[in-house]
Amino acid sequence: MARPEGGGAAASERLALIGDVAGIRSATEGWRCAGERVGLVPTMGALHAGHLSLIQRCRQECDRTVVSIFVNPLQFGPGEDYECYPRRLEDDLALLRAQQVDAAFVPSVEAMYPPGATTRVRVKGIDEVLEGRHRPSHFEGVATVVLKLFNAVRPHRAYFGQKDAQQAALVERLARDLDTGVEVVVCPTVREADGLALSSRNVYLSEEERIAARRLVEALRAANRRYLEGERDPERLRGAMLTVLRAEPLARVDYAEVVDERTFQGPGPLAVLAVRIGEARLLDNHRLGDPLP
Ligand code: AMP
Repeated sequence: MARPEGGGAAASERLALIGDVAGIRSATEGWRCAGERVGLVPTMGALHAGHLSLIQRCRQECDRTVVSIFVNPLQFGPGEDYECYPRRLEDDLALLRAQQVDAAFVPSVEAMYPPGATTRVRVKGIDEVLEGRHRPSHFEGVATVVLKLFNAVRPHRAYFGQKDAQQAALVERLARDLDTGVEVVVCPTVREADGLALSSRNVYLSEEERIAARRLVEALRAANRRYLEGERDPERLRGAMLTVLRAEPLARVDYAEVVDERTFQGPGPLAVLAVRIGEARLLDNHRLGDPLP
């Protein structure tokens, strides 16, 4: 099937906006039957350059790109930011048109979870540590929605960000364990000029908090320096991160650990952080030994 080339009018006409499971399934089914490779980029919207990097990778590797926008209530705990999570659908759709995305799947909560839908998916082990320990049932919400998106869209490939490393590892395992046939692609973290990882939640930061938020990447850099000097003791590497974070009065550390990058348990090369600054809870991570801008 021919793809419309670039160009404003063609680009703005090709985005299909679909809100129900039957609709997205029949669109992607048609593409699959025509021999086209379908890629899925799941998001919660408020799109930024991090999301765009996933979309661009998907467009390079697949014939059709589906972006889902769904703020999934199941993955938010009581007292978390579900209600005030940034929602900017019109801006997001304009971005998707400019990126020549084929379909935006934007279901309502009722379309995803009709009354009586009580099935939940768990990926045991990895969902009990770090993010899983701090946000009980968060990963159950993630695993359930991701499997539902895989079943609705039936993509050949799905794109996730290394920014949420534990989520990416959990989704890779889910895709394999449940024989989804979906190839999970994990894309590098996109950062601001000063190193802060892009996140939809960065909008919660005041000017002063935005400056304090640099400490996350600085903590990762400190651990990386020690690692490159030959330090391998996880406690000392962790200490290097905590020294940087504790010097910032606005930062409250949920965890700073150096863990195995598959299981997120036991020592390994992945430095992971969760830090609260004001109303924002920020995550970052780095595979020690790799270059960190
Ligand atoms: P979210 O909308 O926050 O649920 O993110 C949707 C996808 O984009 C997830 O796979 C995230 O890991 C990914 N993502 C978010 N921020 C970044 C970033 N700064 N760089 C790369 N990927 C990201």
